[in-house]
Amino acid sequence: MAEKYRLTIGGQSVEADRYAEVRNPSTGDVVGLAPQASSAQLAQAIGAAKDAFQAWRHADDATRAAACGAIAGVLTEHAGELAELLSREQGKPLGGMGAEFELQGCIGWAGFTGQQSLPVKVLEDSPDRRVEMHREPIGVVGSITPWNWPLMIAIWHIVPAIRTGNTVVIKPSPFTPLGTLRMIELISAVLPPGVLNCVSGGDELGAELSQHPDIAKVVFTGSIATGKKVMASAADTLKTLTLELGGNDPAIVLPDVNPEQIVEGLYWGSLINSGQTCGAIKRLYVHDDIYDRVCDALVVFNENIPMGDGLTEGNLLGPLQNGRQYEKVIELVEDAKKQGARILCGGEAAEGPGYFYPVTFVADIKDGTRLVDEEQFGPVLPIIRYTDVEDAIRAANGTEFGLDASVWGADPAQTAAIANRLEAGTVFINKHADIAPHVPFGGIKCSGLGVEFGEEGLEAYTQIKIINAAA
Ligand code: NAD
Repeated sequence: MAEKYRLTIGGQSVEADRYAEVRNPSTGDVVGLAPQASSAQLAQAIGAAKDAFQAWRHADDATRAAACGAIAGVLTEHAGELAELLSREQGKPLGGMGAEFELQGCIGWAGFTGQQSLPVKVLEDSPDRRVEMHREPIGVVGSITPWNWPLMIAIWHIVPAIRTGNTVVIKPSPFTPLGTLRMIELISAVLPPGVLNCVSGGDELGAELSQHPDIAKVVFTGSIATGKKVMASAADTLKTLTLELGGNDPAIVLPDVNPEQIVEGLYWGSLINSGQTCGAIKRLYVHDDIYDRVCDALVVFNENIPMGDGLTEGNLLGPLQNGRQYEKVIELVEDAKKQGARILCGGEAAEGPGYFYPVTFVADIKDGTRLVDEEQFGPVLPIIRYTDVEDAIRAANGTEFGLDASVWGADPAQTAAIANRLEAGTVFINKHADIAPHVPFGGIKCSGLGVEFGEEGLEAYTQIKIINAAA
């Protein structure tokens, strides 16, 4: 009998009336049973968070900072257990930029956030008045997370919320709920009851959470389509929002690069987590002069990267996480073939079991093809040829997306000039997908609203209160 995981409500580990099987995308084996929280349990979790907020909002700064340190400590102590569970339910390998790397990210971000602070700012101290700006918590934060980096994204939501005095109800993706359920159960033990609650269930539970009148802020990471629904449901009670949505990151490769020198950066900038990363390269624009050499270098580099079951040592790439994503990737590659694109490697789904799709580089493909225009979210990269860099910049900017972009070239003045013109929340030069806890991260256009990380990311969990005193 598979293990039943538990909800966390008001500091208690709680069972549900119904459970759903969660399967390993590499093997199809059942990893565990995820509780399907009822509407009443969701209401209990929000109620517990609302009650806990009354004390937590006034807890002193040192207590809240120490709580973040304690979270980092719990994550460190249980990193092995959580990484293995993550690998089994998400599919990503333990090594490389996989599950252990994700746990290290969780620990690093939690520790860093514990050391951040938002002191009172004195805006004026004059014979006329003393004006102070305080940063107050907002209330109960509803956190909704996706399945690609489930634990790290959960930590990105939870820890800054708690650090600033909010309380939280988190709902993980139905595809990867187990790691989050277990992680929250462990973390909640070092926090006052009700400060952190976790409910799992289907998409409808996310909709209920994001509509609930007692949720003051929603932090959502997921697709653009769902982000729009979350935004609509926030309108009724004017909830504060942070939305981290889909990306279709372009990378522009200029003719003066040495393909052998940049191939590793391009490869992992695109293939991190088998391409299931919001801020991965999803469209590669390469100048005609070096087009064939860049294509060849990518194909050769790929020959040494093993893909397979996450728990088998040495694998660096895993499967697609779920059937829906697997079908989408197949559909986009088949469409590209029909449009006359050239498959450089891969291009056919592997024999089962598991949702394995080989790394696929697609050449001689143009903007206007679905594989270029849509977010493929898999190990497939379209490589588009250009001759005039103005065309590449126009194409890079010509979508609804605006998460990250990158430019690769040898002349710093030219790369800086192009970086200034690319429309994205982050533009990288000669690298991609390099994030850090002190550097704000977020999308523009339809890729999101607001930022996470850095001082600005922490401020997003607060509201400003001015104290304006007569002298
Ligand atoms: P998704 O939008 O399908 O689901 C995300 C979460 O929303 C899940 O927990 C889901 O249950 C919940 N949900 C579904 N319908 C809902 C509704 N009506 N109201 C409220 N919640 C609802 O996304 P996904 O497929 O899990 O994740 C992949 C997407 O996430 C990709 O587009 C990717 O680019 C994006 N993403 C963005 C970032 C970022 O930081 N910008 C990071 C990771 C993933």
